[in-house]
Amino acid sequence: MARSLDVVVTSVATRLMAVEAANAVAVIQPILADLVEHFHVDVSFLRSNDHDLKASILVAEWPVRPVVPDPDPLKVIYFADADPVFAISEHGKKPQVFRPEPATGEYQQTIEGGGGVPHSSMAAAPLVSGDVTTGVLGFVKFGDREWSSAELNALEAIGSLFAQVQARIKAEDQLRYLAEHDDLTGVYNRRALVAHLEDRLAAGRPGPVAVLFLDLDRLKAVNDYLGHTAGDEFIRVSAQRLREETASADCLIARLGGDEFVVVPRTACSAAEAEVLADRLHAALSERVAVDGEMLARTVSVGVAVGDPGRHSVSDLLRRADQAVLEAKDTGGNAVRVFTENMAMRTALRNDVELHLQSVIESDALVLHYLPEVDMRTGEVLAAEALVRWQHPTRGLLFPDSFIGVAESINLAGELGRWVLRRACTEFSDWRARGVGPDAVLRVNVSPVQLVADGFADRVAEILDEFGLSGDSVCLEITESLVVQDIDAARVTLAALKEVGVQIAIDDFGTGYSVLSHLKSLPVDTLKIDRSFVRDLGSSAGDLAIVRAIIALAEAFGLGLVAEGVETVAAAQTLAAHRCYRAQGYLLSVPLEGMAMERLLAQGHIELPFSTAEPLPR
Ligand code: C2E
Ligand code: CA
Ligand code: CA
Repeated sequence: MARSLDVVVTSVATRLMAVEAANAVAVIQPILADLVEHFHVDVSFLRSNDHDLKASILVAEWPVRPVVPDPDPLKVIYFADADPVFAISEHGKKPQVFRPEPATGEYQQTIEGGGGVPHSSMAAAPLVSGDVTTGVLGFVKFGDREWSSAELNALEAIGSLFAQVQARIKAEDQLRYLAEHDDLTGVYNRRALVAHLEDRLAAGRPGPVAVLFLDLDRLKAVNDYLGHTAGDEFIRVSAQRLREETASADCLIARLGGDEFVVVPRTACSAAEAEVLADRLHAALSERVAVDGEMLARTVSVGVAVGDPGRHSVSDLLRRADQAVLEAKDTGGNAVRVFTENMAMRTALRNDVELHLQSVIESDALVLHYLPEVDMRTGEVLAAEALVRWQHPTRGLLFPDSFIGVAESINLAGELGRWVLRRACTEFSDWRARGVGPDAVLRVNVSPVQLVADGFADRVAEILDEFGLSGDSVCLEITESLVVQDIDAARVTLAALKEVGVQIAIDDFGTGYSVLSHLKSLPVDTLKIDRSFVRDLGSSAGDLAIVRAIIALAEAFGLGLVAEGVETVAAAQTLAAHRCYRAQGYLLSVPLEGMAMERLLAQGHIELPFSTAEPLPR
């Protein structure tokens, strides 16, 4: 007998080594089954103690009850109202035997499907870890059973084996919790999110899988002005709100670090459904938060994307949600955006530009087109504005809006700008050498980074010199926003450019207004009325009021004035009626290739498609 008990203990020890948190029940059940057989009992169970809850929790049982009621009365048993058999498992340290006792009601009834057995006996071996009782291993015999001291010793040994395993699983759980959760907020971390999405996106799983990417707008300001503790508190409250707001929806919440959260509904979810949830989270996070006695409000940008299992990878899906959130941020934040294929195309183009722009500048894939500037009274061609294009091998002719911004963000704007200025001066001086356009002005757009770069004015001077062009035949166009952003740097560079003798125009004038107060003190020659005000002239009274104000301003400061984007006869005639005669626009001419521009300059004027002699009455 003693020998065979040793064998039992050893076998339990060996088999328990295989237990991990994930498979615990599956490994433990057959061990319980063996013990039931070995000890000739009817039921065996393993329970663990939750001392916070002051309760005993069922972990595994054998035999498994064929019908488990819901809620299961045996799942959680509070020590306070437990019968003595369970109560001893709260703090008991040694195996105990109860016999014969009236049946422990519920347990018996559940096992027997309500029949009940009048008497049963039980041996309970507490699991002890250090000086804490962490659970109990119980054996029930319907009817009476005697337990020898050798058996009780074996139970004690087996109990301590289970206690060790339980402690190990608990430590593993804690480690896993730490590995999967974010310290600050207690929500999942990036690793757990990726693991979850990998599982969800496996082929054959239900889809689509939705991802909501939330990014708190300008949280940095909270950190900067109120300190990191306040910033942390803000993030904690945000996480809590996400939890509350998704409580009914069953979602995984993860924090990616910083002020970024991701919410994944745990069941299949369409983009439209996800957007509804996103709107709700957006509203919840936008509410004020009390931090350090101050009521803070931060808006949040939300990007929504859905992916199909088997088709999209985790990184596809997260990237899409990220793109959507970037779009939300780009348009000022505080918004919900759903990912579209269009966004994907823009991003693909952007990546393409990033990869190839450098070599494109070096190769000859860039070309200049020229937009004529015309006197609307006579049709005389006054100037040619160089507009850069990229002859892309697969995407066709690309317009500057799709690559200038990228060039700026990867520090290529300076190089691109030098190429444009150089090429424009080359072509222009070639025309001049052939006697074409001696009085015309070459207009070149300058990007903000170029303007504030050291030595820009010197470089302009060198190029003019190289091509023998006088300063007054070249006009650099600078956007209004730049001038305002760094007024001091702009002032210095503009003054230097004036020394060189080039003309300076403020492009897109009217979109900022903010440069107005500086107009008098900046060495500017010309204002170009932004095309957004010109397009609807003739039908929009509001635009007309603005254009009239700009015209008055130019007259007051003695500045030249050019209208951009003249597309309709009504716009042309309205401008002319208010004494703005210089203009560009598709009505007059679309941008032309170099050779066509040269021909037009040689001709000297365009055929006007309207008469400005008698402007339409308004
Ligand atoms: P911008 O300086 O305001 O240039 C005028 C833009 O308006 C050109 O577009 C031109 O094709 C377009 N446009 C002209 N007439 C009309 C019209 O009647 N209706 C409409 N809807 N549009 C008209 P593009 O060539 O796409 O250039 C866009 C912007 O890219 C330019 O705006 C300029 O800011 C920038 N850009 C162009 N070339 C260069 C360059 O070489 N260097 C830099 N830094 N920026 C450039
Ligand atoms: Ca321009
Ligand atoms: Ca413009």
